[in-house]
Amino acid sequence: MFKRILIANRGEIALRVIRACRELGVESVVAFSEADRDARYVQLADRAVCIGPARSDQSYLKVDRIISAAEVADVDAIHPGYGFLSENSHFAEKCRDSGYEFIGPTVEAMERLGDKNAARAMAKECGVPIVPGSDGLIESESQALACARKIGYPVLVKASAGGGGRGIRQANDDRQLRRALQEASREAATAFGVADVYIEKFIENPRHVEAQLLADNYGNAIHLWERDCSIQRRRQKLVELTPAPAMTLEKRKALCESAVRIAKAAGYTNAGTVEFIVDSKGDFYFIEMNARIQVEHPVTEMATGIDLIQQQIRIASGEKLEIRQEDVVHRGFAMECRINAEDAEHNFRPSPGKIELLVPPGGFGVRFDSHAYSGYSVSPYYDSMIGKLIVQRATREEGVATMIRALEELEVKGVKTSVPLLLKILKSEEFANEVPDVGFLERYFVK
Ligand code: ADP
Repeated sequence: MFKRILIANRGEIALRVIRACRELGVESVVAFSEADRDARYVQLADRAVCIGPARSDQSYLKVDRIISAAEVADVDAIHPGYGFLSENSHFAEKCRDSGYEFIGPTVEAMERLGDKNAARAMAKECGVPIVPGSDGLIESESQALACARKIGYPVLVKASAGGGGRGIRQANDDRQLRRALQEASREAATAFGVADVYIEKFIENPRHVEAQLLADNYGNAIHLWERDCSIQRRRQKLVELTPAPAMTLEKRKALCESAVRIAKAAGYTNAGTVEFIVDSKGDFYFIEMNARIQVEHPVTEMATGIDLIQQQIRIASGEKLEIRQEDVVHRGFAMECRINAEDAEHNFRPSPGKIELLVPPGGFGVRFDSHAYSGYSVSPYYDSMIGKLIVQRATREEGVATMIRALEELEVKGVKTSVPLLLKILKSEEFANEVPDVGFLERYFVK
């Protein structure tokens, strides 16, 4: 096991990693920006190293500063959290070249999966359903037009190096396709330095379902079941839950087992997530793999009782995965609501500032993961998420009731939050009667 770990992240996930380290008897060192200097989790770590000014391009995204912090603190490994540099293979390489274990997959696996077109081909080879689309990259306009006519409009032009919803364009006819090709490749070239694009059929109102994986360095890979993350606005997830609604046990199992096959084929190690879209018939199609821990990981932790962050650290330190697939038990229902400091009434604009009062909820089946507290200032420089409220109960009905009760108990004064919107959603007839797809939130709750 490692002696000391550097956490190259901030906020809620930094605190989450500090907690896992403490329980494992590993020292934690947090790399922080000037804006986060006074945060309590920074004090909670065994040591903290300032890596620069508030702007993330001068701190949390600065590879050299993070490596210097690792040197100063003399750590064995670096945990990247999510966002920032977590899926940057150059960063992972730099960590390992500098002698620090990167708590994540290998550089090769990251690169293999970061290329979405190649990942698609790999999924296909594993016999995993992929969205109908082009056979590889688009080389010419005529090839694109022929492909679109064959699979039928509407289609999506997607950047192979894409991420975060960028480099994706929809086209409903030939004319739009010509434009979409140019726009998507231009955006991809600017944002990712690679202009390559491929085509996928546009699936009407899909659901977003993803499988959580753990894989060690000895060829063992397991899934920890799935999460449905369809309640989202502009690709930002707001509510995540498990089990995915309106899917049979056989389908859920098939989806999760497909994810394991892809991870094994890619030589994937550590924690990862394979994303699928699910159509109205409950059929699933691979779309991509995320090579990091995700915001919504506690949903899986609560449903399975497995500490994913501890597992990440154990795997990175060279331990064998002790959990076998048959040991993983999915217990009832779990759900997460993201508590963001934002004003849903005014186009979700961020609501930074001082939290005058924060009273977290508690009680049976409730978990609140947050770095915020009464007196904490929400920085305008970063993501507006101030916490995650997670519940676990035997049934969906009980779980939703517990979540509503906990959201009503949670008190946050001084900043606007997503709580009123979350309550509106969970108490709505639409939520009770429909299976939310990715258009659900915008259709009913967001003007
Ligand atoms: P990124 O790598 O930028 O996250 P994804 O390939 O994961 O992009 O797609 C982003 C989102 O776009 C998905 O979560 C889904 O909501 C939607 N999407 C992706 N592919 C399709 C498709 N073929 N049809 C309909 N929606 C899609």
